[in-house]
Amino acid sequence: MTDKFSKAAKDLTDSERKKALESVLDNANETEAGIIRQILGEDGKPLTEKQKKVYEKYIEPALVEKCGALGCTRFSLAGETYCATCAIDYGE
Ligand SMILES: [Zn+2]
Repeated sequence: MTDKFSKAAKDLTDSERKKALESVLDNANETEAGIIRQILGEDGKPLTEKQKKVYEKYIEPALVEKCGALGCTRFSLAGETYCATCAIDYGE
C-alpha cells in the first residue's frame, strides 16, 4: 500500500507537491514539520540522509490519499477529498 502511495506521490507536479506538503504540515510531528518546512523553504537547503529517510518513509506516502469517490481508484492530494477528475464531477 505504501509503495503505491509513494509512487503516486513521486508523480506529483512541484505545485501539487507543495500544496500537499502544506496540508500534511498541519498534522505533522515536530521532526516531520521541520523537514517539510525545509523543503518548502526558500533557501533550498538539501535534506540530510536521515531527513531523507523520514521524508520517504513517513511524509511522501502521506502526500496522496485515496480518492473519496466510490469506486474511483485514483489518488487525491492530501487535504483534498477527491482526485482532480472526480472534483470536476462533484463540482468542487
Ligand atoms: Zn476520483
